[in-house]
Amino acid sequence: MATRPVPRPGVLDIEAYVPGKSAAPAGVKLHKLSSNETPLGPSPRAIAAFEGLAAKLELYPDGTSTKLKQAIAGRYGLDPARIICGNGSDELLELVTKAYLGAGDEGIYSQYGFLVYRIAILAMGGKPVIVPEKNYTADVDGILAAVTPKTKIVFLANPNNPTGTYLPFDEVKRLQAGLPSHVLLVLDAAYAEYVRRNDYASGIELVAESENVVMTRTFSKIYGLANLRIGWMYAPAHIIDALERIRGPFNVNGAAIEAGAAAVADEAHVAAALEHNEKWLAWTTAELEKLGLTVTPSVGNFVLIHFSMTPGKTARDADAFLTQRGLILRAVGGYGLPDALRMTIGTEEANRLVVAALADFLKA
Ligand SMILES: *Cc1c(COP(=O)(O)O)cnc(C)c1O
Repeated sequence: MATRPVPRPGVLDIEAYVPGKSAAPAGVKLHKLSSNETPLGPSPRAIAAFEGLAAKLELYPDGTSTKLKQAIAGRYGLDPARIICGNGSDELLELVTKAYLGAGDEGIYSQYGFLVYRIAILAMGGKPVIVPEKNYTADVDGILAAVTPKTKIVFLANPNNPTGTYLPFDEVKRLQAGLPSHVLLVLDAAYAEYVRRNDYASGIELVAESENVVMTRTFSKIYGLANLRIGWMYAPAHIIDALERIRGPFNVNGAAIEAGAAAVADEAHVAAALEHNEKWLAWTTAELEKLGLTVTPSVGNFVLIHFSMTPGKTARDADAFLTQRGLILRAVGGYGLPDALRMTIGTEEANRLVVAALADFLKA
C-alpha cells in the first residue's frame, strides 16, 4: 500500500483559526468590526517609521529586535533582557507551548478562552483541558481543580476575548499561588491598555516576582499595528533563555521593529484611542441594552451581544442583517457562543449604524 507523509497526532484535530470576516455586499460601505482593530489607526509616527524602511528591504532585520525591546522596556519600566518579541503575540503563545508542553501533556484554558491556545496545545500533541466559566468569566477554583500531574501550562486571557470579562489581580495572584511551581501560567494581556479598573493589573508585577509566570502583549490592538504582526512577552530569565533558542532567527521584521518602537513613544495617540474606547464602549453598551439586548459587561474594545434563540431573531439572523448594511461583526459559534456576536467598538459612525441597524432588525 502506498504511504504518504502523515502529520503528528493532534495536528488534524485542529480546526484552522477563522479570522474575522472583511467583506460587504457590492456598493455598500464596509465597517469591519470583526477583529478588534482600532478605529483610530496607528500613530502617524509609526506610519512614518514604516515608510522609512522601504529603502532598506534588501537588508535582514536586527535579529534581536533591540530597538523595539528598549522602547517597550523604557515605556513600562522593565529589564529589556527579560523581553522577547514575536511575530504577533500568537507566535509567542505557540513558542512557549512548543518549549514547555509535549505529547500527552495537558494545557488548561477556560471555556470561552482564546482559540489560539487550543491550536497551540493540539499542535504539540497535547491535550486541551477546558474549564467551565461562571458568568462568562474564568473560574480560578475550577482551573485549580483541573490541574493534574500532566498539566504543563495554564492559559488565561485577561481580559478575555471574546467575552470582554476580566479577573481582578487578586484572583490572578490566587491562581498563581495555587498552581504547582512547575506549571507555567501564561497571562495573555492583549487588551490590558484598554482596562480602566482599579483592581486590574496586566501581570508585570507577578512575572517579576515568580519563576512560572509570563505575560504576553500585542501591538495589534490599541497600537493599531495588527498588519505588521508584533507581540512581546515579559518573562523570567530562564524562560527567555529557552524561547530564544527555538524562535526563528529573524522572527520580527524590520518594519515591525521601527514602527513598533515609534508607536510606543507616541503616548498621546494611545491616550486618544483609550478615550475614544471609553466613551463608545459605554455608549454602545447602554444603547444595545435599551434595545433589550443582553451585553456581557466588557473592559476591552469590544462587546459580546447576546440574541434570542427565536427563529428569525438569532445571532445568525442578526449577522446576516448587519452584513447587508456593510456592518461586519464576529460570529462566535466556534467559541461555543452560538447565541452571540462580538462587536468591536468602531468609529462613531460605525457604532451608531450598528445600533440603528439592530433596532430595525429587532422590529422587523
Ligand atoms: C488579538 C489577540 C491577541 C493578539 O494577537 P497578535 O498575534 O498579537 O495579533 C492575543 N490574544 C488575544 C486574546 C487576542 O484577542
